[in-house]
Amino acid sequence: MPELRDLYQEVILEHSKAPRNFRVLKDANHHAEGFNPLCGDRLTVYVEMDGDGIRDISFQGSGCAISKASASIMTQSVKGRSKQEVDALFDNFRRLVTGQLNSQGGSPELGKLAAFSGVSEYPVRVKCATLPWHTLRAALYGEHETVSTE
Ligand code: ZN
Repeated sequence: MPELRDLYQEVILEHSKAPRNFRVLKDANHHAEGFNPLCGDRLTVYVEMDGDGIRDISFQGSGCAISKASASIMTQSVKGRSKQEVDALFDNFRRLVTGQLNSQGGSPELGKLAAFSGVSEYPVRVKCATLPWHTLRAALYGEHETVSTE
């Protein structure tokens, strides 16, 4: 489906050029840094938790278009959600970018995240797409302050 692919590429390009929630979050009570040495992507995710829910989220950093767009769309997708919902969403997203989930028949939960379905054809890019999520989980669970995909 070439039309759908073009649309998805547009979504990714647009978010990489004008990332949403790209700032330091002053009221953040959790944050973590992520690094993908394979590509050079580096980012910090800031989270303001209210109980078990994400009240606000932002990120800063530099990297390729895929990593930036993924972080941007991730921040939009997880705002207002609980840790458990984030885990479920990440699980779906990871299956999507590794080709284990069909975006067409797929989960409506994914929304804009479905734009990353093409990543499954480029295994080296999977780490770019998942880096923001690994970093978010590190921030939420405080397991490691710095995550690396290697
Ligand atoms: Zn990258």
